[in-house]
Amino acid sequence: MITLPEAEQRLVERCERWVAESVVPEAGRWERERVFPADALVGAAELGLTRLRVSPRLGGMGASFACKARIAELLAGGDFGLAMSVVNSHNVAEELARWAPEAVVQRWVGAVGTGACIGCTALTEPDAGSDFAAIRTTAARTGDGWRLDGRKAWITNARAADVVIVYAQTQPGAGAAGIAAFVVDASRAGFARDDEPCSGAPWSMGTSGFRLDGYVARDEELLHPPGTGFERALQSINGARVYVAAMCCGMVAASLRCAAEHGDRRQAFGRVLREHQAWRFLLAEAAVDLRAARLMVADAAQAIDAGADVRTRAAAAKVCATRMAERHVRALGHALGAEGLRDRHPFMRHIVGAQVATLVDGSTEMLLERIARRFEDP
Ligand SMILES: Cc1cc2nc3c(=O)[nH]c(=O)nc-3n(C[C@H](O)[C@H](O)[C@H](O)COP(=O)(O)OP(=O)(O)OC[C@H]3O[C@@H](n4cnc5c(N)ncnc54)[C@H](O)[C@@H]3O)c2cc1C
Repeated sequence: MITLPEAEQRLVERCERWVAESVVPEAGRWERERVFPADALVGAAELGLTRLRVSPRLGGMGASFACKARIAELLAGGDFGLAMSVVNSHNVAEELARWAPEAVVQRWVGAVGTGACIGCTALTEPDAGSDFAAIRTTAARTGDGWRLDGRKAWITNARAADVVIVYAQTQPGAGAAGIAAFVVDASRAGFARDDEPCSGAPWSMGTSGFRLDGYVARDEELLHPPGTGFERALQSINGARVYVAAMCCGMVAASLRCAAEHGDRRQAFGRVLREHQAWRFLLAEAAVDLRAARLMVADAAQAIDAGADVRTRAAAAKVCATRMAERHVRALGHALGAEGLRDRHPFMRHIVGAQVATLVDGSTEMLLERIARRFEDP
């Protein structure tokens, strides 16, 4: 839909081959054996995917947002959890490269970019999800930095992350105005992971929670000062909405391919399934909605690359694509009959992926609120 520059197109093709060879054959096993596939994250890093949008000056690929969206689609076609894990780790490198002081950039950006370290970003808490301004993790000024206390929950990659961007409240009662963000080193005193992963989430997402108990962040580890944290989080979340929408397209595209192959083989009533009109209409319905969702993703991705305001476009693309994935992954799995339940096919994982996609980076209701504020916003 978007013609990428040649170097980005080659990267997309390498990514496509890697997903087919290294993700698709393994993804069912990750879920069955309940493992977080750290090796796959390293494989993604070797392709450059965890430094995709980092500037070449810092060892990154300097790729466009449209390229990121295309890669997110391909990764999620193989496994939504892995796609989220790779992109969330990448986002820490991108965010630190953009905002952190030199010493922090030197410490983490290369390490996350090469896959030596894993990153995650923590806004959500046990008692605050959609209502981000209500977070209770506190950051209090000390002589040589900030003391952080609180709990985070449902954080992608938190099971294995080495570096965490933590959002915290610096002035209890101040809401959005008091929110700041800190770079937290998971190996330092005061950081403790929850023992239990978040059950129900894909294992390949490494979703977990953690506790901060008197953790001390140094002055240079203040990433977004109080008064800027809330707004900057919302800025980057617009991009997240677009790549999650792209991931939904990837899950539907993979499901569609799988159903089409089955329909060419499986016989019923003397003909292959594809020759039954009512059966092939299931696939045609999915193809129509997939095309519409991809156009919305492409439109929003191009607008991001052009530096435009995409708040409404990003929200609309995610609402459209998540609904499409919720509807069609299930329907396409149904098109395989009982065979669709087997874990050599992606349907059951993608059904969970589609459900998770309706929550992360703004739930559907939050996005509809955004759209309803001004229908004609960009
Ligand atoms: C697998 C997974 C990975 C995640 N990864 C991350 C991560 O890496 N970092 C991170 O910070 N967070 C992460 N999250 C958390 C995610 O952002 C939250 O789940 C999301 O913000 C919704 O918050 P909640 O689950 O607390 O639901 P709640 O905020 O409690 O909402 C519950 C329901 O009520 C609806 N609702 C809430 N308020 C309103 C309203 N005003 N009007 C109408 N409906 C409303 C919501 O849409 C939702 O359907 C992850 C979640 C999951 C499931």
